[in-house]
Amino acid sequence: MTSLLPRTALATFAALGLMAGSAFAQDYPTQPITFIVPFSAGGPTDTVARLVAQAMSDELGQQILVQNVGGAGGTLGAGQAATAAPDGYTLLLHHIGMSTAPALYADLPFDPIEDFEPIGLITEVPMTLVARADFEPETLEELVTYIQENGENVIYGNAGIGAASQLCGLLLQDALGVRMTEVPYQGTGPAMTDLLGGQIDMMCDQTTNTTTQIQAGEIKAYAVTSPERLDNLPDIPTTSEGGLNLEVGIWHGLYAPAGTDAAIIERLTEALQVALVDETVITRFAELGTAPVTEGQATPEGLAETLSSQIELWGEVIAAAGVTAQ
Ligand code: ASP
Repeated sequence: MTSLLPRTALATFAALGLMAGSAFAQDYPTQPITFIVPFSAGGPTDTVARLVAQAMSDELGQQILVQNVGGAGGTLGAGQAATAAPDGYTLLLHHIGMSTAPALYADLPFDPIEDFEPIGLITEVPMTLVARADFEPETLEELVTYIQENGENVIYGNAGIGAASQLCGLLLQDALGVRMTEVPYQGTGPAMTDLLGGQIDMMCDQTTNTTTQIQAGEIKAYAVTSPERLDNLPDIPTTSEGGLNLEVGIWHGLYAPAGTDAAIIERLTEALQVALVDETVITRFAELGTAPVTEGQATPEGLAETLSSQIELWGEVIAAAGVTAQ
């Protein structure tokens, strides 16, 4: 369409727009920021988000609120964040699910790459294979035999299709060649409550949600999915020590809706990097079996690279497992 305004007027408007945008970005943030966490409160993604939010809030001088939007394996919350105003006041803190969802959902309501501006990678957290305290198997070897013999009678809790706990269960079932009965929750916070209550038999979840209960002897732990044993859970063998081919690390990243001003992204990346060297964050992460990523990874480039390579990796793994998109 041809504009009715002369070229000079258009140029002036554009310049004014740019100035307004950068003035706005310079002042940022002038109001509280919201982190959308696409899982329930009390779970591992929520735990990481609240620790990082507090430290970033101290750095930015503005409150950061955590809004839990659980459901559909994290895709509901991610979809909501994708359509939020790109003004730096609504961000998404999500995990590996950003990279598995495209292979698991035929009609994903967002594009993890096109609809978001990456801010930075945060941390990588190992998973643990855990069960209710009175579950029969005592060791990983016994667990493997038990699942193979009992298949669908084993009740496995997860946070829905696209969640890390679902991915880990998928890899486990694929490795063992059996199906269990999967019970989806809006996050593994409530799934942990049911595991403690004995309503479900087992799950595979991040150490950020299982360490305290394992250390207190409230649940059984069979293995960690990291290549090496963990400092905070030194008695728990790795999956490979038990002969199980299941290694997975759950990474978390921070995103803004596409179209967010580059100066705002830069300010958020800086604040994230400050948060990741915060003593409280480092100490609590270590207690929960994780550590912040390096400064070079806590960047838009670091997260973009991880996201695209993980979309490729999990797309292949999920296709090879013969899982049909929902
Ligand atoms: N750990 C969960 C999962 O992806 C999500 C959560 O509740 O944080 O399975």
